[in-house]
Amino acid sequence: HGDSRAADRKVDSVCPYCGVGCQLTYHVKDDRILFVEGRDGPSNQNRLCVKGRFGFDYPNHPARITRPLIRKAGVPKGLDPAFDPAAPLTHFREASWDEALDMAADGLKRLKVEHGPAALAGFGSAKCTNEEAWLFQKLVRTGFGTNNVDHCTRLCHASSVAALMECIGSGAVTASFMQAEKADVVILTGCNPAINHPVAATFFKQAAKRGTRFIIIDPRGQSLDAYAHLSVRFTPGSDVSLFNALLNVIVTEGLFDEAYVAQHTEGFEALKAHVAPMTPEAMSGACGVDPATIREVARVYATAERAMIFWGMGISQHTHGTDNARCLISLALACGQIGRPGTGLHPLRGQNNVQGASDAGLIPMVLPDYQPVADAQVRAAFEELWNTPLDDQPGLTVVEIMHAIHDGTIKGMYIQGENPAMSDPDLAHARSALAQLEHLVVQDLFVTETAQFADVILPASAWPEKDGTVTNTNRQVQLGRAAVPMPGEARTDWWIIQEIARRFDLDWHYDHPRDVFAEMKQGMPSLDHISWERLEREASVTYPCPADDEPGADVVFSDAFHTESGRASFSPTLPLPPDEPIDAEYPVVLTTGRQLEHWHTGSMTRRAQVLDDLEPEAVATLAPAEMRRLGVEPGSALTITTRRGSITLSVRTDPGMPEGMVFVPFCYAEAAANILTNPALDPFGKIPEFKYAACRLSAAKAS
Ligand code: SF4
Repeated sequence: HGDSRAADRKVDSVCPYCGVGCQLTYHVKDDRILFVEGRDGPSNQNRLCVKGRFGFDYPNHPARITRPLIRKAGVPKGLDPAFDPAAPLTHFREASWDEALDMAADGLKRLKVEHGPAALAGFGSAKCTNEEAWLFQKLVRTGFGTNNVDHCTRLCHASSVAALMECIGSGAVTASFMQAEKADVVILTGCNPAINHPVAATFFKQAAKRGTRFIIIDPRGQSLDAYAHLSVRFTPGSDVSLFNALLNVIVTEGLFDEAYVAQHTEGFEALKAHVAPMTPEAMSGACGVDPATIREVARVYATAERAMIFWGMGISQHTHGTDNARCLISLALACGQIGRPGTGLHPLRGQNNVQGASDAGLIPMVLPDYQPVADAQVRAAFEELWNTPLDDQPGLTVVEIMHAIHDGTIKGMYIQGENPAMSDPDLAHARSALAQLEHLVVQDLFVTETAQFADVILPASAWPEKDGTVTNTNRQVQLGRAAVPMPGEARTDWWIIQEIARRFDLDWHYDHPRDVFAEMKQGMPSLDHISWERLEREASVTYPCPADDEPGADVVFSDAFHTESGRASFSPTLPLPPDEPIDAEYPVVLTTGRQLEHWHTGSMTRRAQVLDDLEPEAVATLAPAEMRRLGVEPGSALTITTRRGSITLSVRTDPGMPEGMVFVPFCYAEAAANILTNPALDPFGKIPEFKYAACRLSAAKAS
């Protein structure tokens, strides 16, 4: 970099995007970020992917809102195709903070008085800090008086957490992804780390080069297949059939770890009986994998000295997502592949702070640290800490809240940094719910698709503008630091939440996120031996941490599990079809996900210049043979139709795609994938089936 690009200061922080949690340094000149460099953090060792390196300029986008906005009288709620988010004063008027905060709080308070606390709900954000997540759920619970508080974990790993809590008593990973380098065998299933966790993928590639054997199990091919010992493609939606067949081989061939099972688990005899009929021959037709391959995968995993399983949303985003995760847990427990270096279970977390936001209590059925709201002792402890009585009923989840708006139960919402008008399944239903709300307060950086339904919009802080802690997929708590000032009258999220709380007559006096962190430590044993000062000094501490001078446990459950008996349990599962199987009318499987360059609903990355230049338009991917069948060329327009709607977008070929499947990223508002998706929920994790919907495809004229 030449002199003209010389920074006048450098600020150490953390990447705002995925759950890998790469540490970085902002190089700042004249209060603007010039460029970003990776730091030597435990999860990135100086590396960054394209999002971390180039996705830093979205806070300066011309559409950034810098003053509170109030909907103009008479402007109907909804997505107006003529609305320009960069010129929002056609639909909204500017207001002072006092007027906007009073209006935001008064509308919610009025609904509480008229209809009771259950008429309100809040979505917090996994893009915000732990302190902001803590304050948000505290406001909903103590101010609104309800547990109707949730966030995007419901759309990514809620089913994984449900299974992990049930079987091993803890919803976080049992070992960091760096442990892959100590493993002899690694299974990656339902994940595509080179796209979604790119720096974690570099650790996997290193491990493969050093001799770790990777088994990649997925309906789609991916670039990491080039590093794999085995790549197993299976029929979409048949995960449970395949995993039960693996368990059958492990049981019938005596490959399980008898001593481990006897000492650390319960329920193995029932599992053995359950999987007995599910031989590879019996399940091969359903899962599309030949019996010999099933046997080989089972043998390689079970006989490894050290083996790990990583999974992503290909596992969790199904109506049988919890069953999928239960199967993976059973595999690890049966083979004793947990609790030692190079072993373990690792659901790769998506957002930079989805682990921390979940830990901090942005979940309707549990208080912070996953302590059930229905437990009177737990409630009593938080009532004492917060000096307020708490609701004893678990609240509603993300998709349930949309249904409750439609049935008239929920009438007012506070949405901080989430974009359900893009991220929820069956968007026609979700958007009509948002339009039906009597009062909606949205706190964000831009007039997002969701903010277009708001009565009041509160201009919040971007990640490089605030201090706070975040917790990555490895359970590493890290410190983000403000590098640049907020524009105009934008405010930090924690300040805004506190101002709303005060208007609910809550006696809050936080002067800095470190005050909030100190309170969190009183309700969250997971933060024992982790202090704000320590994070300022050390930059990263892993929980659980046994002492002030220990780095924290990279691998957990070496002796006992977090269950009453200290033992883990097996949870047998039965194969179930997807909620909406393909048929003659809708013969193709639609699956959705992310692209390397874009993140979630695109509210940040599509406003980052380099990233948007790299991937500027909505695109679907198909197998080459599927393209030929449809008579479409790369770049031509494709229409995708499901029972819920239709979108048209550009098409691209991907040799990793199986025939009979189309992949659509969900970040493009102009062709929103979730117009198509199925809102059916997993009964345990309440997660929608984003990974499987029946659709039909047709060539369309380019628009
Ligand atoms: Fe950021 Fe994730 Fe990329 Fe790291 S891998 S730079 S955390 S998006």
